[in-house]
Amino acid sequence: MEKKKAKGKGEGIKALILDLDDTLWDTTGQLVKKGQIAALEEMAKHGLPIKKSDAAKTRDMLVKRYGQHVNITTKALEHFGMYKDKKNRKNAEKIRLIGHHRYHTVRIGKIRPFKDTVPTLKKLKKDGRILVLLSYGVARQQNSKIRKLGIRRYFDRIVLDTTIGRSNKPMHIKEIIRWLGKRGVRKDEILLVGDRPNSEIEGGKRLGLKTARMIHAHGRYSRLKPQNRWQKADFRIRRISNLYGVLDRLDNQR
Ligand SMILES: [Mg+2]
Repeated sequence: MEKKKAKGKGEGIKALILDLDDTLWDTTGQLVKKGQIAALEEMAKHGLPIKKSDAAKTRDMLVKRYGQHVNITTKALEHFGMYKDKKNRKNAEKIRLIGHHRYHTVRIGKIRPFKDTVPTLKKLKKDGRILVLLSYGVARQQNSKIRKLGIRRYFDRIVLDTTIGRSNKPMHIKEIIRWLGKRGVRKDEILLVGDRPNSEIEGGKRLGLKTARMIHAHGRYSRLKPQNRWQKADFRIRRISNLYGVLDRLDNQR
């Protein structure tokens, strides 16, 4: 890739690392519920003590009881006491991974980005900023989302965290920082944008990046409170186009 020379508005923040799910599109509203039900159905087939036909009911119960940010696979196993018995733990972990995989491969169907996502990405590119997409999940699934949302062309680089079972975003953020460094972008010229305080926000802040947290109306992590100072983002935005204001402030700080 040729070196992008930032000018004018791009003087302060030269690159953005953007999360995908619930940051650039309403994943919670358009896909999460479907995935959670599919995961529980699959887990029922493999030993979770519920009827497959009760998956939707069980999903609603777990979300109501433990909050919408709940990790449905882990919580279902906990709720039904499957982690209690030490002998059964290995089996429970197997069922968790089966559910986790099902969740991450549920049929996507028709999806669309937030109304202001594409205009915002376009403008960021026009201002000469480097855009990197960082997303966790199964590669095929995430690629399919990116294609359906029609946003691939706006990114200089797409990084998929495909660690099985649990995400490891800090490792990937570190690598992206290195990659940007080779392009003349310093850490303090990078803004990371995501919706999850205990994942990309914490990872980015610990590595010295500026962070903005996306809090959209019913995002599943919108109500999560930061558990330590690293999870507290520098900025909070309610829609992705609010980034213009954030960038204005950061650009004018220098
Ligand atoms: Mg997200």
